[in-house]
Amino acid sequence: PEEEIEENIAEENRESNQLRPRSFEDYVGQEDVTRSLHIAIEAAIIRGEALDHILFHGPPGLGKTTLSSLIAKAMGVPFQGTTGPALEKGGDLVGILTRMAPGTVLFIDEIHRLPRPVEEILYTAMEDFAIDVVFDKGSAARTFRHRLQTFTLVGATTRAGLLSAPLRDRFGIQRDMDFYTPAELARILERSAKILEIMMTPDAANEIGQRSRGTPRIANRLLKRVRDFAQVRGNGVITVSLAKEALQMEGIDTRGLNRVDRKFLETIRSVYEGGPVGIEAIAATLQMDPETLIDVVEPYLLKEGFLARTPSGRKLTPSGWEASEGS
Ligand code: ADP
Repeated sequence: PEEEIEENIAEENRESNQLRPRSFEDYVGQEDVTRSLHIAIEAAIIRGEALDHILFHGPPGLGKTTLSSLIAKAMGVPFQGTTGPALEKGGDLVGILTRMAPGTVLFIDEIHRLPRPVEEILYTAMEDFAIDVVFDKGSAARTFRHRLQTFTLVGATTRAGLLSAPLRDRFGIQRDMDFYTPAELARILERSAKILEIMMTPDAANEIGQRSRGTPRIANRLLKRVRDFAQVRGNGVITVSLAKEALQMEGIDTRGLNRVDRKFLETIRSVYEGGPVGIEAIAATLQMDPETLIDVVEPYLLKEGFLARTPSGRKLTPSGWEASEGS
């Protein structure tokens, strides 16, 4: 079974690479972000400098990694990606920084999870394109400044609030990624269907788009599940009725909420009388990690107005109450 899981992950990676936009023309939505990036990129090219460091903030699956790779492409520089937790020791980061080609876009996902000593190396690296190496200890200690090639750090985080101020302040460009509209998701789905050679009616694309939690990664995943269903139950063409049936089977309700969303809302209603209740208490009842609830589950429920944050905790709104009772 473990091998099977690994195979599934490998397949998912392969397919998501296949669906990843290769150019800004394919990158749907996020116009506020892309517009300002285009100007910054062009200006950096004119000056012959590396692009300012960039921080993207937003829930997973909204296109932060994709956008970073497009930035590298537009700048004509290499792209290198890693994650905060993967950089365990200072040496891990130094190894990357000292081997990068000039101008490289270094993407660090989950940058709020960088260990502190690693984060501190970033300060001078970002500011002066240098790292200070300390030899010996105590009174004999000497520091030696090692110069680096210029680079652009692109950090992604689900919660900008968890970043320390010194790190946050070193990003010249900071942008929030928004959830996508159903129409934007429908466009992404049409493009993915074309790449995967899936036939789908326009209303089916709209239906899936409406029920994808505003998130391209989820839209693409649901498309594959609906494709399976259409192949087994229909003639392979995704129609709106097949899409509806398949989504219901996947546990996605007509509002686009999944099982975890509903369980979350239901817990607040039935265990905590609609709130207000602290996230830790909800997490304990659901036996889930509070971080996951905050990063992955809550943002969409807040955005869609099912949930409200109050000083004393989370509270169901009238529509959240209704959603928690439905289906
Ligand atoms: P994040 O880094 O924010 O978690 P990714 O960049 O990995 O998100 O995006 C997840 C998937 O969603 C990508 O593989 C891509 O296929 C799709 N995707 C994301 N943003 C867009 C977009 N703006 N237009 C089209 N597809 C997108």
